[in-house]
Amino acid sequence: MKIASETEMMAFGEQFAKDLKPPKIIELVGDVGAGKTTFVRGLAKGLGVKEPITSPSFTISKEYAFDGGILIHYDFYRLQDPGLMAGDLEESINDPQAIVVVEWADSVENILPDDRIKITLKYEDDGSREIEL
Ligand code: ADP
Ligand code: MG
Repeated sequence: MKIASETEMMAFGEQFAKDLKPPKIIELVGDVGAGKTTFVRGLAKGLGVKEPITSPSFTISKEYAFDGGILIHYDFYRLQDPGLMAGDLEESINDPQAIVVVEWADSVENILPDDRIKITLKYEDDGSREIEL
């Protein structure tokens, strides 16, 4: 699926939130700038999160409450060893109220359930992004 702009990526995330069914664990795969966090912004909007979404790169995880649940956004970029965050992620995965989104999941691949949703985002030459589910 071709996503032509940042606005379209937001809209895709927003619609995705509305269609979301368990397992509510989403892995986002793609290079820096592919649009992973932009997708999460749309997802959050669709869920009804009121706060702005910022990249969790330095804190590794950020939580956003919305009516009926919590969105937990992880970014393990450049983390060889997730350390204590591995247990934190496990707890989030087991929380029935939580929608969990993970960027750069390489170091925690063994923790994520096999039946997670995996979305791959690719940068195209024309500036658009190609999305694969
Ligand atoms: P990532 O989290 O994958 O590193 P971000 O979502 O933080 O990526 O950044 C993507 C950047 O690319 C944003 O600055 C956004 O405005 C820009 N952009 C341009 N075209 C698109 C598109 N089609 N989809 C998503 N982002 C796009
Ligand atoms: Mg990001």
